[in-house]
This record gives sequence, structure tokens and C-alpha cells, in this order.
Amino acid sequence: MLSKIVIANRGEIALRIQRACRELGIKTIAVHSSADRDLKHVRLADESVCIGPPPSIDSYLNIPAVISAAEVTGAVAIHPGYGFLSENADFAEQVERSGFIFIGPRPDTIRLMGDKVSAIATMKKSGVPCVPGSDGRLDDDPDKNAKLAREIGYPIIIKASGGGGGRGMRVVHSEASLHNAVSLTRSEAATAFGNDEVYMEKYLENPRHIEIQVLADEHGHAVYLGERDCSMQRRHQKLIEEAPAPGISQKLRSKIGERCAQACRDISYRGAGTFEFLYENGEFYFIEMNTRLQVEHPVTELVTGIDIVREQLRIAAGEELAFHQKDIRIQGHAMECRINAEDPKSFMPSPGTIERYHAPGGPGVRVDTHIYNGYKVPPYYDSMIGKLITYSDTRESAMARMRVALEEMVIDGIKTNIPLHQIILQDTAFQTGGTNIHYLEKKLSL
Ligand code: ADP
Repeated sequence: MLSKIVIANRGEIALRIQRACRELGIKTIAVHSSADRDLKHVRLADESVCIGPPPSIDSYLNIPAVISAAEVTGAVAIHPGYGFLSENADFAEQVERSGFIFIGPRPDTIRLMGDKVSAIATMKKSGVPCVPGSDGRLDDDPDKNAKLAREIGYPIIIKASGGGGGRGMRVVHSEASLHNAVSLTRSEAATAFGNDEVYMEKYLENPRHIEIQVLADEHGHAVYLGERDCSMQRRHQKLIEEAPAPGISQKLRSKIGERCAQACRDISYRGAGTFEFLYENGEFYFIEMNTRLQVEHPVTELVTGIDIVREQLRIAAGEELAFHQKDIRIQGHAMECRINAEDPKSFMPSPGTIERYHAPGGPGVRVDTHIYNGYKVPPYYDSMIGKLITYSDTRESAMARMRVALEEMVIDGIKTNIPLHQIILQDTAFQTGGTNIHYLEKKLSL
């Protein structure tokens, strides 16, 4: 096993990774900004190194600082968590060149999947279903593009190959605005992502967001751990996730899951990853792959009984996956509410001191959070301060547990989105299951 690793992240995920390490007897090094000295995992770490001032660009995104911390502490590997440097191929490459293990896929895989045009081409080759669209990048010929859009059928969406975080996309409803949309998206993409490559896809009007979790080792084994439904979103930010996705049959799950596992084998994928799909009228359409651990991984852990972070660490240590596809069973139902420090109505961030914190508990309740009484939520980072996850034998019962847990959870001193979660949990369409990605925004605008 790995002897000592750097956790290059903060907050709940740093603590989550640290817990897995401690269980496996791996020593942990916390690297943190000067605003994060009081983080729980920093206190619990075997060693900690302050790598810079509060702004992420000077600390959590500071590649030389993270790598030197690994050097001075004698770590053997670096876990990037999610966000920050987790999908930065240059970082992964520098980590490996400096002689450390990057806990994630190989740098060239991150690069291949980070570029959407190359990711889609790779998926098509492996038989993963993609959104009907252009065969690769668009060129500047308006007639050719207009013909293509007509063939696909409006509405279509122009997307930047280098885009991310919901940016670099433009929906087009008719030919009159097509040429302008291509030029605008192209010039925005050049400025924002340093890459002016754009492509065209059919715009799906009422899809759900369903994603497949995979794990692959360096010995050619790849498995899928079922799916998650993350359709409850606002501005492309997921708010509630669940597993399994309502209405997905075992037959459909294994069909799409096997395609994803095969794609992993085809590209010699390593570690944990997620294939994101839009799902409409019974069909899956690949949109992108996340080459890292995801925020919502706990719902999959609960329905499969597999500790995804432990598997990441084992895979990074060169071990083989301890199970085969036939050993993986989806049992019961899990749901996750992201708890954000923000106003539940205006969505304005609400940093500050947590005056009082009471964690919910009981059967089937998991709380992944770094907060504690007196913890000061800094204003510099993402507003998510924790995740409340419930598990039970049925979806209905997992929801009932969630309602009770939300009621029990007390976070005083700052505003949180708990009241919004309570409203969603009372919503009849959500209770029925299978709402699409626009549902929450429509509900909020009423
Ligand atoms: P990003 O990397 O910026 O998250 P994605 O390709 O994952 O970009 O798309 C982000 C979101 O944009 C999707 O979750 C979906 O809401 C919307 N979207 C992307 N492509 C399409 C499409 N072809 N049809 C409808 N909505 C889309």
C-alpha cells in the first residue's frame, strides 16, 4: 500500500479522502491555504503544510507549491480530490515527472477526455451512444454548417471543445442566427479556454442527467457501479443526486454500463471516473467524462457497498480490483442533498461563523462535512459545506429519512439551502421521480 500521500484539496472531500487513508494505514499530508488552518482534516493530518494565501490561484491551484510539499514531506502520491487541480493534465504530468503517483488517470487520458471533441470521437469508437451532431469540429463554412444543422434538426447547440462548468455553449433555434452563434461561441471560447474549436449537437429539450460511475485498474479490469440521477440542478450546479435513477431497468443499466466499462478498457483508463449522459425518451446520449472522484460518489457507495476512495487508493498502489462485474449488486436507494452556505432564496453565498451545529443521525444517515461548532466558513471557496446522504431499501423510505434528517440538522450563524431542500422533498413531481434538468429552475421561477 501507499505509505504517505498529499491530499491536494480542502473541505469535506479532503476529510473524506483522509478517512479512507487512515483506515488503510496511509499517512496523510494536508496542504492548505492560510485561510484553512482550522479545517478538520488539517488538524487530523500527520503533517500539514501551508502552501499559500487564501485565493485558490495562489494556494490550491499553485502546482509548484503542491509538488514541493510532497517533496519536503516524503509523500509518495497525491490525491487531487475534485475541482481545483483534479482534471488538470499538466498537473498530473508534473506530479508523475517529479516521481510521485497521481491518484487518478494517466495525464494523456485526462487530456483526451478534457477536450470534448476528442472525448466524443473516442466514445463513438467504443460504441458509447453520443448526441447526434457534427463529426468533430466545425469549420467556418456557413453553408456547410447550415446544411448540417438542417440535417440534425433545430434546436441545435454550439459547444466549445475546451468548455467546462456550463460555459461555452449557445442554443440556436433557427438558421437565421446560426452563423452568428458559431462565430460568437468561437471567439468566446478562444478567450476563455484558449481554444477556438467548436462543435454542433442536437439540443435535447427535456433531458434528465444520468451518469455512470466506473472503476478501472492497471491490469485491464474495468467495472461500472450503476448510475446516478443528478437532474435536480440550478445553473448547471447539481443540488440533489440519487442512485439508482428512477425508472432505469437492470437491462438498460447493464447495456449502458457495459459500454462505459468497454470504453475504459479501450483507452486503458485508470482509477475512478464518470460518464455523464443526457437521457431522453429512453435513450442515453454521452456529453462528457469526468476523470476524477465526484461530489456525489457517496450515493453509489451506499447502493453498492463499495468504498470508491479506498478503491482509488488501491488502484493507485497498483493493486487489482477486488471484485468482478458479477459481484456488483445495486441494492436499496440513496439520496444526497448538497448543503451550501447560501441564502435559500437569493442563492447569495453566506460565509461566516457557525454558531451552533447539530448533525442528524440514525439508521441510513451519512453526513460528509468538515464543519463543527465555531467553524468559520471562509468567503474564498465554493459554498458547499457538506453533504447529507440517506439510504434505505426503497426510494420512498430514503426520502422519508432525508426529510427527518433535514429537520434534525441545525446550522446556525450562517444561511444554508436546507429550506430549499425541504421544499424539493415535498414536491410531488420530485416524489414521483424522473424530473428533468429544467424542473428546478422552472419551479423556482414560479
Ligand atoms: P460542462 O463541461 O460545461 O459541464 P457539458 O457538456 O457537461 O458541459 O454540458 C453542461 C450542461 O449543458 C448539461 O448538463 C446540459 O444541461 C446542457 N447541455 C449540454 N449539451 C446539451 C445538449 N446537446 N442538449 C441539451 N442540453 C445540453
